[in-house]
Amino acid sequence: MLPDKTGRETFPQGFRWGPRGTAAATIAANLSFENVGRHYGQRCAVDDVSLDIAPGEIMCLLGPSGCGKTTLLRLTAGVERPTEGRILIDDRVVAGPDKFVPPEQRGVGLMFQDFALFPHLTLQENVEFGLQVLSRSDASRVARAALERVGLANYADRYPHILSGGEQQRVALARAIAPRPGVLLMDEPFSGLDTRLREEMREETLTILQETRATCMVVTHSSEEAMRMGNRIALMRAGRLVQAGTAEELYHAPADIGAARMFSDLNEIACTVSKGQIDTPLGRYDAKGFADGETAILCVRQRDIDLVDMSKGHNARVLATRFLGESALLEVGVAGLEDPILVRMRESIAVPPGTEVGVKVVREGILLFAQADEEASGPRVSQSRS
Ligand code: ATP
Repeated sequence: MLPDKTGRETFPQGFRWGPRGTAAATIAANLSFENVGRHYGQRCAVDDVSLDIAPGEIMCLLGPSGCGKTTLLRLTAGVERPTEGRILIDDRVVAGPDKFVPPEQRGVGLMFQDFALFPHLTLQENVEFGLQVLSRSDASRVARAALERVGLANYADRYPHILSGGEQQRVALARAIAPRPGVLLMDEPFSGLDTRLREEMREETLTILQETRATCMVVTHSSEEAMRMGNRIALMRAGRLVQAGTAEELYHAPADIGAARMFSDLNEIACTVSKGQIDTPLGRYDAKGFADGETAILCVRQRDIDLVDMSKGHNARVLATRFLGESALLEVGVAGLEDPILVRMRESIAVPPGTEVGVKVVREGILLFAQADEEASGPRVSQSRS
């Protein structure tokens, strides 16, 4: 290794990771939450959560800050006790009104965003730390294999401070998988890394998780990360589970407008239902299940609007165009709409400001929600203009 400007050692150019084996497979566990709640006095961090996670499944917990994701993880690990409900691992109650299994007896592995490596221990010792039930020689062998899997076996006797964030994250991953936990819990594992490294680590972690086949719960703020990593996503808000399903289910059939906003940049247009329909400057749509006179919100994804010949769409004019690299975001004024809509399109076909256009909505892309639903979904996230 070579010292960089800060004195920290870095890998030389052309460095190749050491040989990597395959992570040892674990016996994946089933994880169930039955009406789980956690109150801190008057404050409710987790509220009546019921969820089943199948053996080997990767479940991403997604939601805004303070919605209870970390608390649910801590309850699963056994560092917090639920105030209501039960948690079961492989049908065995590990937390409930009359039962509490301590963390070290749950077969649960943890990985945090700050890596939490011991600075005074070598990489080998850091990984061995979680293997105290094994004999010294077995712990040493297993830790070595885990470090090998993440490509750091050659640095087993070095200390964490010489490593970059991504490398420390690799050690944290090796330490989490080494004891072969049936359940692996990860709290925003990539949030301390820059964008490029984050993607690289995410893909590598995913490969290793698939090898270990551990049941996994990953906390994230990012809907994109949840879609890339999770077999399913559990969306939380204000302590409650809003919806659990595959990325496709949450994207195409969001439970409410808050869920829709998590996965797409939306144009939202309030309208009144009349005779089972809404008639808006962006078109007329069925509003089955809505009462006459009810206020509904038509949501159209920015990507689901086409700019067409004026004779084929609703009258509009491009007001501004913002270059976003591979795409462009257009602000478009539509006749009959008070506020401009935002349209995202391929940069190469973007239209300059001032152009008169027609706008056409991709009909399958529309979503309709009751206004009352919006009030329950929390504050509106403003449309992205970045
Ligand atoms: P973030 O994404 O910001 O980490 P989160 O979704 O993980 O947030 P939690 O950390 O689980 O949210 O917190 C949920 C709520 O519970 C918050 O309002 C938080 O302030 C509260 N909370 C968590 N732990 C405690 C505690 N020990 N005492 C009191 N309130 C707490």
